[in-house]
Amino acid sequence: QNNEMGWNFDNSYPRLPDIFFESTEPTPVDSPDLVIFNNSLAKSLRLDAQKLQGDEGIEVLAGNQIPEAALPIAQAYAGHQFGNFTMLGDGRAVMLGEQIIPSGERFDIQLKGAGRTPFSRGGDGRASLGPMLREYIISEAMYALRIPTNRSLSVVTTGEPVIRETELPGAILTRVAASHLRIGTFEYAARWGTEEELRILADYAIDRHFPDIEDNEDRYLALFEELIKRQAELIAKWQLVGFIHGVMNTDNMTISGETIDYGPCAFMNEYDPATVFSSIDVQGRYAYQNQPAIGQWNLARFAESLLPLFHEKQDHAVELAQEVLSKFEELYHSHWLDGMRKKLGIQNGEEQDESLIENLLRIMEKNRADYTNTFRALTLDKLEDTAMNGTSEFNEWYEQWQARLERQEESKTSAYQLMKNANPAVIPRNHRVEAALEAAVKRGDYSLLERLMNVLSAPYAYSPDQEEFTKLPEPTNQPYRTFC
Ligand code: AMP
Ligand code: MG
Ligand code: MG
Repeated sequence: QNNEMGWNFDNSYPRLPDIFFESTEPTPVDSPDLVIFNNSLAKSLRLDAQKLQGDEGIEVLAGNQIPEAALPIAQAYAGHQFGNFTMLGDGRAVMLGEQIIPSGERFDIQLKGAGRTPFSRGGDGRASLGPMLREYIISEAMYALRIPTNRSLSVVTTGEPVIRETELPGAILTRVAASHLRIGTFEYAARWGTEEELRILADYAIDRHFPDIEDNEDRYLALFEELIKRQAELIAKWQLVGFIHGVMNTDNMTISGETIDYGPCAFMNEYDPATVFSSIDVQGRYAYQNQPAIGQWNLARFAESLLPLFHEKQDHAVELAQEVLSKFEELYHSHWLDGMRKKLGIQNGEEQDESLIENLLRIMEKNRADYTNTFRALTLDKLEDTAMNGTSEFNEWYEQWQARLERQEESKTSAYQLMKNANPAVIPRNHRVEAALEAAVKRGDYSLLERLMNVLSAPYAYSPDQEEFTKLPEPTNQPYRTFC
């Protein structure tokens, strides 16, 4: 009856050498209840949304029943957390299998919060409802923002409490990803595997994510370079929408180039490059402005792990890796500049564009202007909506910008159209997310959450019902803090 739900599993990851995983089953839960379900994602995975939301489907999403062809495992990985190398592994996530769709695409189906695994150490293997709903909201919002990300299929409550600072309702999120390979998976292989095991992992990653380089003479160096390209593009996209990941440890950086781990992330309100939300990031290591450099630092850890495979080039493997790594900055910068030009309606480059952009950002920072709403106001040409309106600095900048738009062949109408496609009208505002979570967790009221998800599903729509969601929170003395 499981196949009736549309499961079409293959299990390529457990065919890797067994150092890479532990077979483990989800721990059954008392009384699962489905609280949110992603119909359109289910459809694109060729799953039967109806059946999955029925009693038997919920048993699967809660880990109480294992679909026939599933092969549940926990993955092994290591990672640098805040700069310190440590052994990790899935301590509260169980992968069921890889869903294959008719196009041949493969998606990891993972239950997060499914109970203890051999990698759990002191943890209970469980997750609480608030953070799982938060991951659901923000990952789906990122998807709608056209930023590569893992996705969320469902959240079920378990009927069991989890003990944190207080007792909280337990929950399980079903996470869908191109894969869960991480830089940390390679660090693990390099540290504890043989060279052969490391090679098998690299070949697996190439096969799964970079088939175009399979026949490359220098395929492992090419793998490194491809990941640099993907991560440079990904992090540029984060910067362009003001997304702060919050915990860019190497185990939270994927080989697929998808955003993963939505623990302490949040979107910036007023533009301040030093913004940090995570309560544990006391040094600001993962502040907004540090994200590109941290990305590059993490990629250096990836190169170190791959080094033994740059075999024929052993004598100058380090120099080669450094040469490739040094491309990150330029790649990142060109994606960023490209994206910023689009945010300002600029369709072809001029030398001075960069100083035009930097000037705007400087004025925004000085006036504590909201990042998203500033670009929205420019897009709508509603200058009265910006915190900088009326200042001579901004007036001057605005004249320069308008003159710049007039210098290009394309019409202003087409410039403003470009801006609508580059500047989200709505983002998951922290206070909105918090309000939706509180209603859901404390009162079992999912109406706010559903309305928020609905608005966030079309961030470039500029529809009237979004207006209300562009409002800023009431000023408080308490800075916004996130927890993982
Ligand atoms: P994260 O901060 O989400 O990247 O997680 C870091 C590590 O802690 C991973 O190995 C997680 O699997 C593990 N972990 C997080 N929460 C729990 C928990 N409640 N029980 C067991 N392991 C956990
Ligand atoms: Mg993680
Ligand atoms: Mg986490």
